[in-house]
Amino acid sequence: MGLTDITTRIEQAARDADRDPSGITLIAVSKVQPNARVAAVLDEGHRAFGENRVQEAAGKWPDFRESYDGIDLHLIGPLQSNKTRQAFELFDAIHTLDRPKLAKTFARLAQEMGQCPPLFVQVNTGEEPQKAGIAPDDTDAFLKDCKALDLPVQGLMCIPPVDETPSLHFALLRKLADRNGLSGLSMGMSDDFEQAIAFGATHIRVGSALFGARVPEPD
Ligand SMILES: *Cc1c(COP(=O)(O)O)cnc(C)c1O
Repeated sequence: MGLTDITTRIEQAARDADRDPSGITLIAVSKVQPNARVAAVLDEGHRAFGENRVQEAAGKWPDFRESYDGIDLHLIGPLQSNKTRQAFELFDAIHTLDRPKLAKTFARLAQEMGQCPPLFVQVNTGEEPQKAGIAPDDTDAFLKDCKALDLPVQGLMCIPPVDETPSLHFALLRKLADRNGLSGLSMGMSDDFEQAIAFGATHIRVGSALFGARVPEPD
């Protein structure tokens, strides 16, 4: 597929859901992709990208920012506390606020740096022990804590379990966001972004469908 095909599918899914496609941001997930492929998508005019590792992003995005204006870079992978400062400097949004300790670190750093990127709280909708994120039952309380810390939480993010119907998870994330007055929903990947749009996704994260298979596959 290419950018045009994905954009067409987004527009169709938005129409089917009676939504304005301009309310949906396509985050092109460029992790592990060769720079030439990323540059090709930049040359087509796309600006929102996602990376899941701070180190990898630090290796390529400062150079791209020199060559292209208006890049909007999103961190979509787990963040270690000791890389928070670097993440604040590199990224325009962070989708993986997934634990209380990180919220405290963000708050401290926001105070010190006088700014904080927009944040999404990652919810472990499938309650998978190996997966990061706040448990659905703890989400309301965690969001209250974030508010008390003055963190700019814009929405919620989830990665549904691979072997389950994603719609159930999208619906749950939507419900949690609605009842907490949050408008942002970061959900939907290559295989299910149209369903995510039907459930109200505002940020879809699409990698392989846009760039082709990742070689080598990250762990
Ligand atoms: C890699 C990744 C994606 C993109 O996955 P595709 O299936 O290639 O679209 C989306 N979200 C997260 C958190 C990822 O790590």
